Amino acid sequence: MPKYKITIDKNKCVGSTICTMEAPEIFALGAEFQSHVIDPDSNEDELILHAAQSCPMNAIIVTERETEKRVWPPA
Ligand code: SF4
Repeated sequence: MPKYKITIDKNKCVGSTICTMEAPEIFALGAEFQSHVIDPDSNEDELILHAAQSCPMNAIIVTERETEKRVWPPA
């Protein structure tokens, strides 16, 4: 089971494409020019976290599936 659950905050995503460049196998820009997760079952934990931390809007929310603890962004 993947460690992380990834959610995009559509109210914050401005379509900068940074996450899609950092991790194109996990994120893609939709027709609305906002990011969405194309591989929610990815096990690329470090890449997921790196992409989330690269988002200038903190629009990528990463939580641990098992504990539901938020990993990024910091509360
Ligand atoms: S880096 Fe952030 S703002 Fe840019 S497309 Fe990805 S989620 Fe949206």
